[in-house]
Amino acid sequence: MDKLEALSQYFGYSAFRPGQEEIISALLSGRDAACVMPTGAGKSLCYQIPAVLLEGVALVISPLISLMKDQVAALNQAGIRAAYLNSSLTARQYRLAIENARAMAYKIIYVAPERLETPEFQSLCQTVPVPLVAVDEAHCVSQWGQDFRPSYLRIREFLDALPRRPVVGAFTATATSEVKRDIEALLGLENPFRLTTGFDRPNLRFEVRAPQRKQDELLRVLERMRERSGIVYCATRKGVEEVCALLAANGWSATRYHAGLTDEERRNNQDDFLYDRCNVMVATNAFGMGIDKSNVGFVVHYNMPKNLESYYQEAGRAGRDGSKADCILLYSGQDVHTNSFLIERSGAGAELTQEQAEAVKEKMREGLRRMTFYCTTTDCLRGYMLKYFGEPAEDYCGNCSNCTSGFATVDVTDTARGILACVSETRQRYGKKMIVDVLRGSEQARVKQLRLDRCGSFGKLRGMAEKEVRAVMDYLLYKGILTTDDSEYPVLRLGDGAEEILYEDAVLTMQVHTEVERPTRRPARTGKGGPSTAEVSDSDPLLRALKALRRELADEAHLPAYLIFTDATLKDMCLKRPATRHEFLEVSGVGAQKLARYGDAFLKAIAEAGE
Ligand code: ADP
Ligand code: ZN
Repeated sequence: MDKLEALSQYFGYSAFRPGQEEIISALLSGRDAACVMPTGAGKSLCYQIPAVLLEGVALVISPLISLMKDQVAALNQAGIRAAYLNSSLTARQYRLAIENARAMAYKIIYVAPERLETPEFQSLCQTVPVPLVAVDEAHCVSQWGQDFRPSYLRIREFLDALPRRPVVGAFTATATSEVKRDIEALLGLENPFRLTTGFDRPNLRFEVRAPQRKQDELLRVLERMRERSGIVYCATRKGVEEVCALLAANGWSATRYHAGLTDEERRNNQDDFLYDRCNVMVATNAFGMGIDKSNVGFVVHYNMPKNLESYYQEAGRAGRDGSKADCILLYSGQDVHTNSFLIERSGAGAELTQEQAEAVKEKMREGLRRMTFYCTTTDCLRGYMLKYFGEPAEDYCGNCSNCTSGFATVDVTDTARGILACVSETRQRYGKKMIVDVLRGSEQARVKQLRLDRCGSFGKLRGMAEKEVRAVMDYLLYKGILTTDDSEYPVLRLGDGAEEILYEDAVLTMQVHTEVERPTRRPARTGKGGPSTAEVSDSDPLLRALKALRRELADEAHLPAYLIFTDATLKDMCLKRPATRHEFLEVSGVGAQKLARYGDAFLKAIAEAGE
């Protein structure tokens, strides 16, 4: 069997995704590999296929117990014998797994890094040939990374102690050049084949909304997603409780997850979501690590996160199977305040000097600034994000709310001049809110107290909605024409170009959203090698029927539904409508084992729907 046969036989796919084939070839030829690919790009196949093809038992070192369980279940579903060794096993289960491994009953063993040092495991690796070690979440080896795991540092020692050094593949979704260097050095990779694929996730549609009332907007947005499963992230536990109640009251099957719940309730709620017993998970950012659910059709952020790294990671939990998915952020100015407040209040670790702590805070403030710009920019959202992560990007993606909604170019020079004059006149001592209040002629006691009602700018923009004034203000900040100083009460100051607008005749134009939807110029790209999921709507009756059947089979097997078939696979069935077992095999995501297990049931459902 070669790698392409393995891809089709076990995983049911007809083509490799970008990068996969190169990595697999390198590992099969005995060359180490270091691979950075975004979530959902298909890293697992890069080591699972070599593991199947190589003689012996491959090891996958993985830090997340929940992920191991999921991956092993998925492999067994695909007809590949696999097991995991971690602290969730009882002593008896553990011994049994080791015994099986010794008899080479598995092709792949997932193991937590801490296990590598145990005598039992070491003795196993002395007797059983280990052709390949894959290090998943390899950034955990680096102290620079967010998720440093000290036990990752001992992987190298473990490799050196093996009778024959296996080929080593390191995989991660996040790596700066520092972290990449650490990965290679600390794992002892030998002249590795290096591959970094882009961070773009073409199947994700990005959207930002700045609603007056978030609750109403959330319900409106979710109405489009009725048939899908998804996550709503809130900034606080209280937010989670409120939003979950709101959704429940509006006919959604929603559950919740945050640090204030008992372990047991968290586990139950998480399972309800994974097993599709509940459609919507409302959660704080505590939810998601190690969740591999492939059929998450949307991720809504009810609040703006603290930086783009967090945002991209959380939003990226949508559409892992390559199906189209929506990532929507509901933005309000209050989110900026809340985040600033948290930054200023953060202790930044007791072991830091004052200077270091200040430097950390400054980094956090910059992160927040860039996140805020994402919410207020009229440029392509995908482009903005990719550039933030240091990747080249086009100015138009055709699959984000800024690219697909209409814009009108508006001359905002007068408003800008009013804002700048007010900032200047009040001697650059006040923040956004006060400046807006003064310009709109607010009756607030504080305005009077400070005698700001006597300045020339008072009431200058009386006729404008607060939102419009703020939009221009945000734009000035985005352009650097205004700056803020990042203290706990950020103050607005004049920046580059302010003088030209104030005293010369510089003109400032800005793009504003208009109501009309502009037709998409370039169709959204879908991942290569994946199924084409474009034409199947969520409400397609056949898709519904197939999802129901999948639920039934999943319940019987006590498996999450997406381990039977992914959404992308079900949609491909709707498009291809196979009538024979042979045709069924043509569906993306159907391999030999799944044909044998589920083929007849699905063929029957498809035939019945066609009648
Ligand atoms: P990662 O580990 O990089 O986040 P996964 O390995 O979980 O990504 O893969 C994400 C999804 O893509 C899975 O549902 C997987 O089955 C699917 N996939 C992987 N490779 C291919 C391929 N060549 N063709 C179609 N789908 C694929
Ligand atoms: Zn775009």
